[in-house]
Amino acid sequence: MPQPIIYLDNNATTPLDPAVLEEMLPFLTTEYGNPSSAYQLGAHSRAAIELARERVASLVGCAAGEIVFTSGGTESNNTAIHSALQLDPARQHIVTTAVEHSATFRYCEQLAERGGAVTFVGVAEDGTLDPDELEQVIRPETAIISVQWANNETGVIFPIERIAEIASRHRVLLHSDAVQAAGKIPIALGTSKINFLSLSAHKLHGPKGVGALFVHRRSAFRPLLIGGGQENRRRAGTENVASIVGFGKAAELAAIGLNAHAARIQSMRDAFEAGILAQIPSAVVNGTRHTRLPNTTSLAFPGVDSEAVLILLDRHRICCSAGSACRAGSTETSHVLRAMNLSEERQRSTLRFSFSRFNTETEVTQAISGLSRAVEQLQTLSNG
Ligand SMILES: *Cc1c(COP(=O)(O)O)cnc(C)c1O
Repeated sequence: MPQPIIYLDNNATTPLDPAVLEEMLPFLTTEYGNPSSAYQLGAHSRAAIELARERVASLVGCAAGEIVFTSGGTESNNTAIHSALQLDPARQHIVTTAVEHSATFRYCEQLAERGGAVTFVGVAEDGTLDPDELEQVIRPETAIISVQWANNETGVIFPIERIAEIASRHRVLLHSDAVQAAGKIPIALGTSKINFLSLSAHKLHGPKGVGALFVHRRSAFRPLLIGGGQENRRRAGTENVASIVGFGKAAELAAIGLNAHAARIQSMRDAFEAGILAQIPSAVVNGTRHTRLPNTTSLAFPGVDSEAVLILLDRHRICCSAGSACRAGSTETSHVLRAMNLSEERQRSTLRFSFSRFNTETEVTQAISGLSRAVEQLQTLSNG
């Protein structure tokens, strides 16, 4: 029998919860009606989407009518920024950060390459963001501020509510990419001044290829996808019914267990981190440990190449991710670690471990010994 996988890459994607799959199955088989059709078969699909909308809204504390289903976090991020730029030709400046997910970062980089005005606010060496620094770069022509709720590589949480106060005072729209935060820490949009918020199902044990954009009921909005009148004319295209249903179930499960799960996940993450720091004295944690997602640790092992560790760990069926993305043969370090001004060596030796409620204490113990051995082996090689 093959060795079971120890999956510690839950910020990349998560396993589908079996209860989610169960709710999806009818909509991949017998319940195939188009939600826009007038007959009963269509009405079933329509009702299922509306239940999912309520469940997703409930996870983030907004009204169901403020949830627009999309194809995922990437589309949601692109849509929010696109929408803000359509409103006023005189307001085309974007404020974002140097550590956003590529779905925001690359979109803004591309706008900047085409002559757009984008300010990328930097972060401190511990990955934290200073809201005062962000406030200083707002201009009269700023259309939108886009800041993630929590960073996918380090888990560092940003002071979104303070940024929302600033955005509101300057009468600038605020978008937050909450893909990593949702389901891990509480989000209550009820009284918030946030205009747009991005979510993705596959980061919280739902299916891939479905997400949502929260659009505040009083925010002006211009759709990215134009066509049919679906999603209250905010996102054209026949709905991905089964996936939306799965997203709804995943959101419901995430909300029900949020506090209990977060405590257990954090204790596994902390035990893993403490174990590794004890076994490998040269290891260091990237990013502040004070305001951080409960499931994430970004660790650097100076003197060791993270890609090499990744390959050794894969032999033990341990999945995690490297701080550097391998692109067409050349290894480019992560823009997040670069923005934190970490040394080249630290960037190249970074691995991210991200836990979920499907991990176990036994896996933590096995991962500590597997990783310690892999790092020691490579340290011996490079010293020999
Ligand atoms: C995964 C992720 C996204 C992209 O979501 P997809 O649904 O995969 O398109 C966006 N932002 C953050 C912070 C993410 O972690």
